[in-house]
Amino acid sequence: MAMLDLLNVNAGYAENGKLEEKLHDITLSIGNKNVVGITGPSGCGKSTLIKTILLQTAVVSGSIEYNGNEINAGSMSGYRKDIVYVPQNSLDSLDFLWTVGDQVKKVMRQHGLSYDSGEIKNAAEFVGLDLSVMKRRSFEISYGTRHKVVLLMALAVAPHSRLIIMDEPTTSQDPVSSLNLLKTVRKMASSGNISFLIAASNPDPVFFVSDRVYVMYGGWIVEDGRPEELIRSARHPYTEDLIRFRPGYSSRSVSPESMYTDANLSGCPFYIYCRRKTAGCDASIPYRSDDGHGYRCLRPGGLNVAENR
Ligand code: SF4
Repeated sequence: MAMLDLLNVNAGYAENGKLEEKLHDITLSIGNKNVVGITGPSGCGKSTLIKTILLQTAVVSGSIEYNGNEINAGSMSGYRKDIVYVPQNSLDSLDFLWTVGDQVKKVMRQHGLSYDSGEIKNAAEFVGLDLSVMKRRSFEISYGTRHKVVLLMALAVAPHSRLIIMDEPTTSQDPVSSLNLLKTVRKMASSGNISFLIAASNPDPVFFVSDRVYVMYGGWIVEDGRPEELIRSARHPYTEDLIRFRPGYSSRSVSPESMYTDANLSGCPFYIYCRRKTAGCDASIPYRSDDGHGYRCLRPGGLNVAENR
């Protein structure tokens, strides 16, 4: 049984009495001790999906299940306590004039919690942070250590959390800091009772760190599978482009326009950019799955990207 399941969820935002649907037929699963990644272009719905998991959107249909039970008014607050959200640019929230220790205390006070040095020590060990850092100011520590401080603060306010959601965690970071953060995420997922959801437009960190990757486009999940499977044999043309477009892969040209979404179509959201479109692609496209590799495409490919490097 997965820890968190979204089943055929359609969701969006209600404004002035009107609902604008941004997510369509989202089915996604996060298991215990799993790292799940979401990638796709800007505007594809990653942030809305995160907000939906955080119960901050209007769910039109479908269900969200936690530990096998649909979330309802009675279970909502317990569910929320189990989830930590680390927003994009979270490093900016660190105050350079305060010591790390004082900042941890401050954020705990803001959440009505008292500082417990034993728990903080355990949390610091869990994220791989040397406690000597507590006496230092943010500007005195490296980017990689700052990331760990942010994770420590997240755990300090939610010590029993089961899921950490990180939005664009490596954006604007140097490669070494990004790599260290991703390694920390992997280590925490495998050594603790915690799972991660990592969302990023750049597929590199997502493919590197995740057990399973979901590719989004125009508010839909268009493909999902194990990262090595997607790299070896992408089915959806957008995933193929996403992988080909990475440095070190094929030099075959990719239309940059395909990196943008167009949600104004009733059929496949990738229709206008697709080189394989065919009759029926302008109608609703069902999600299919072969051996746990899911895709939403009428003419799936089996691109062996690795051979085209
Ligand atoms: S469903 Fe059709 S238009 Fe959409 S990606 Fe597949 S082949 Fe292209």
